[in-house]
Amino acid sequence: MAHVLILGTGGTIAGTGTDPARAWAYQAAQLGVAQLVAAVPELAAIPLATQQVAQIDSKDMTWSVWQALAQALDAAMQDAAVEAVVITHGTDTLEETACLLHHLHDGRKPIVLTAAMRPATAPDADGPRNLRDAVRLAHTAAGLGLGGVVAVLQGRVWAGIHVRKAHSHALDAFDAGGAAPLAVLDDAGEVLASAGAASWMAAWPRGEGMGWARVSSPKPPRVEVVLSHADADGWWVDAALRQSADDAAAGDPQRHAQVLRGLVVAATGHGTVNAGLEAALQRAAAQGVVVWRSSRVARGGVTPREGDVWPAAGTLTPAQARVALQLRLLAAQV
Ligand code: ASP
Repeated sequence: MAHVLILGTGGTIAGTGTDPARAWAYQAAQLGVAQLVAAVPELAAIPLATQQVAQIDSKDMTWSVWQALAQALDAAMQDAAVEAVVITHGTDTLEETACLLHHLHDGRKPIVLTAAMRPATAPDADGPRNLRDAVRLAHTAAGLGLGGVVAVLQGRVWAGIHVRKAHSHALDAFDAGGAAPLAVLDDAGEVLASAGAASWMAAWPRGEGMGWARVSSPKPPRVEVVLSHADADGWWVDAALRQSADDAAAGDPQRHAQVLRGLVVAATGHGTVNAGLEAALQRAAAQGVVVWRSSRVARGGVTPREGDVWPAAGTLTPAQARVALQLRLLAAQV
């Protein structure tokens, strides 16, 4: 029977605390995904299956968890009984996973990420509503023939490629770096008619279609993020280049896999870089390191312009640009 598959990965949505007076004192990733579903009786109306892919605080996200997620999604895309997938995730790195999945997915079925800022035991837990909204939206989107990666949080639907955490502790913690939400949901989780049914469906993303096998390599190419700031003189970049040269010379395959392949600059403003750091980046590029520019500013990103020395990462956050560059470098290896 056609159903929505819910993949659990942990996060605060699966977190529990013991002291209601200290809302911040909790542990993420304690409840299984089946328990999260059981806590939302409204979900009984939609056929569901659950699968626990990982159980982590997403601050500790790893390449191997992403590989497990990609494998589960690959199987789900091939399973005719799965109409859509929901992923419960931590908020900390949700934007990175969303960006990764957007690049890999071919948009055949909807993939809806959700999370929570409060643990499941908090009096104002936001997880149950977010999970309900995510499942309903996944089911609706599948019925409309929409695919692609989105995130649903606090009644708003964000494109997976644009979503990012924008507040460190508020319940309404996500935005899209200046882009509007794809849709706004009412208290019952239905898309508000005022959002314009035709436009939210038209704006629904498809995915880059790189394929799930893109992350099959046991180690990802090393791509680091470096911040441009006052007095940024490239010290970190030169230190990384020295370490990388040591690893390359070691002849040990493990160390060789650590060699620096890319750098994403979290640049100032519209992609400007401190001259000292810029000079170090030139040294890195001369050694074959690929350099991309993103912005440390919360909104707007870096749009490509004529004469750019370093490619612009567009609307991606620095953390998202790191993932996108890894995927690009993996393609170059094939
Ligand atoms: N540290 C948690 C996580 O990302 C935070 C959260 O989920 O809100 O897993």
